[in-house]
Formats: sequence, C-alpha cells, structure tokens
Amino acid sequence: MQYIEVKGYKVPALGLGTWRLREDVCRQIVERALALGYRAIDTAQAYDNEFDIGQVLAASGIPRKDLFLTTKIWPDVLDRDEGAIDASLADLRTDYADLLLLHWPNRDRPLGDSLAPLVRALESGKARMIGVSNFPSALLREAVSIAPIACNQVEYHPYLSQAAVLDIVREHELLLTAYCPLARGEFARDPAIDAIAQAHKKTKAQVTLRWLLQQERVAAIPRTARLEHLAENFDVFDFTLTDAEMQSMNGLAYGKRLVDPEFAPSWD
Ligand code: NAP
Repeated sequence: MQYIEVKGYKVPALGLGTWRLREDVCRQIVERALALGYRAIDTAQAYDNEFDIGQVLAASGIPRKDLFLTTKIWPDVLDRDEGAIDASLADLRTDYADLLLLHWPNRDRPLGDSLAPLVRALESGKARMIGVSNFPSALLREAVSIAPIACNQVEYHPYLSQAAVLDIVREHELLLTAYCPLARGEFARDPAIDAIAQAHKKTKAQVTLRWLLQQERVAAIPRTARLEHLAENFDVFDFTLTDAEMQSMNGLAYGKRLVDPEFAPSWD
C-alpha cells in the first residue's frame, strides 16, 4: 500500500468505494476486501450500507487504528440534525470517522454554516479529519479559508481533468480522493489505455488506477461487486507508468462528467 500524509495522518492511497453495495453483497465484498489488504473504506449515509459495513468491521478483528473510514453526510441532513453524525458512527460501530465529509455543497446556506457541524465533530473527536465533496475550485478555496478542510472528494478519471482543484489541493497539502476512478467502466473501450496495459501486462482498470495513484496527493476508491475485480483493483503497486504514459493518459480528458445532478454547483 502507498500512503498519503495529510494533516499528520497516513491515508491509504487506495480504498474501496461502496456506493450501491448493500446487505449480503456489501458484507461479502467488504469482508473479502479486508482479507486482501484493503484498509480504507468509503461510505456515506446516503448509501444506506453503514450498518452492513460496521458489522463486517466489528467481526474482522482488525484494530480500529489500522482502518481508515470515510463517511459523508448530506448537507440538509447535517443542517437539521447534528445527531446524524452520531447515527453514522453508531452504524459503523466506531467512535470516530477518519474522514467526515460534507457530501455536496448547499447552495441555500452560507458555506460557514454548512461546515460548522463538521468543525464541531473534529473538535469533539468524532472525526480525525473533515472535508468536502463535489467542491469545484472556487468553493474549495472558500472552504479552506473557513475551516480546517483536509480533503475534497470529486469525480476524477482520465476523461475529466481536475487540474484547477488539484492546484488548490497541492497548495494546501490536502487530499483529492478520486471517485468514479474507473469512469464506471468507460476505460474498457479505450485503445490508448489498452496499449499501455499491454506494455505492462496489466489490465486497463489497473492502468487507470495506477495513473491516479502516481499523481501527487491523489487517492482512489474504485467500487466493484465482483471478487475478481476486487483483487485486480488492489494489485496496482508493482508497476510504474513512464512519464510519457502519464502524459498520454493526461491527454484523454474531454470534460466527461458522470455525476451531475441538478443541484450540482457550477463546475470548473
Ligand atoms: P467506479 O468505481 O469508477 O466504477 C464502478 C464500476 O466499474 C462498476 O460497474 C464495476 O463493475 C466496474 N469495475 C470495477 N472494477 C473493475 C475492473 N477491474 N474491471 C472492469 N470493471 C470494473 O464508479 P463509482 O462506484 O461511481 O465510484 C467509486 C466510489 O466513489 C463509489 O462507490 C463511492 O464510494 C464514491 N462516490 C462518491 C460520490 C460523491 O458524491 N462523493 C459520487 C460517486 C461515487 P463490477 O461491479 O462488475 O466490477
């Protein structure tokens, strides 16, 4: 595993995304992921699987300090119910989240108000680090000026540049967690990624993840419901893309955004 140092904590650069994983499938995938060596798990209150994940973590016997748990809370839930954080922690069967995120910006409230419950969670020890998700660069800059933000979790894959967000992440030594790191499978048809994969005797998914993990301060959280993909996605630490290969992957971005709900902010 490769780690990224953020605010004095070591963050595993590769974690498991769990959107859409629920009940038996969720429990089986998380259990197998832990057995393979995954230690970072990404969930959210909105995924409705914190309870399943909590069960597996408790049964795993892995010391809490060796796990890295990220959860996210929907902005209006956080606004009206500070007990929401406690509910997530109770379901996850833990006293703290390693990283607690505001799931989306809230257009209808001043940013400081949206971030205040997270800051209180940080101060009371319910979160080791706090952060945001789906923040474009201008909003991220504002968030950093208001609260001790450690992370922005955003859509990031070869077809969508995050250069503007990355500049701020690096300037402030934050973490960018790449969601949809596999572009939900779109890499599968890409001849440029295929050529690089063949050169390294790796799969296109592995090359796509490797491209992310070779970038400064970038972590990735691929999701799968298949055991064979779980192992494949974790096997990305024994090869290195050349500068030319990194550049060629950088050149694939064309503004493809997979997650763009009507309440999304104005993107970069
Ligand atoms: P993703 O990880 O880019 O793609 C998941 C898809 O890729 C699944 O259909 C999976 O199918 C397939 N896949 C996984 N490994 C593969 C492999 N080795 N070869 C071929 N196909 C493979 O997309 P995502 O789930 O949307 O994003 C990842 C995580 O980011 C989520 O689970 C969630 O934790 C987080 N997320 C956060 C936000 C946010 O607003 N903060 C938004 C979206 C996602 P199989 O199941 O068949 O393997």
